[in-house]
Amino acid sequence: MINRYRDYLEFIDNKLKKMFESQSVYIKCKKGCSLCCKEGEFPMSELEFVYMMLAYMKLSNSLRETVDKQIRALLESNADRLYSCPFLINDECSIYQGRPIICRTFGLIYYNKKERFKVPFCVDLGLNYSDVYNKDTKKIDSAKLIDNTQVSAFNIERSVLRSKKIERSFELFFGEDKTMADWLEEEFK
Ligand code: SF4
Repeated sequence: MINRYRDYLEFIDNKLKKMFESQSVYIKCKKGCSLCCKEGEFPMSELEFVYMMLAYMKLSNSLRETVDKQIRALLESNADRLYSCPFLINDECSIYQGRPIICRTFGLIYYNKKERFKVPFCVDLGLNYSDVYNKDTKKIDSAKLIDNTQVSAFNIERSVLRSKKIERSFELFFGEDKTMADWLEEEFK
């Protein structure tokens, strides 16, 4: 199962890479910017959590000590809404290869059935898509398109990327969904 999940991650990473490239004029993601890791609930399935913990177990002792300290702090804070990810060290993901799906998709606009499209929250901080998104009308300002690059809303909502259809195609079983804090609480209590 883990090998099949790894293949699936490679498959979506390749697709996401092309999506990010197609929107590159609007994307401000760069090394050292970790805002998306500092404010979230980080929902993930059991399979994603297990895979993430495999990456955690491969950390050096000193990195693992830091992560453990941050996990304890998170669990003691009883954070039930938004929190900083305990795997973030010096603004870098310590378990990058094992990060969950939500972390891989963050930064792009995604298609949402109810609202039609969802922009990443960093648009309000002058980052992704801020050059072309009108905060007042909550629409893309077509007069501000850069290099005639159309803004796309990708079908990459988590529910789509961990759907039953995907499970059947890749012979996976994602299992239950919980927030990162809830999974960690269960693992470290
Ligand atoms: S797992 Fe890594 S990429 Fe995801 S929120 Fe945590 S530090 Fe950021």
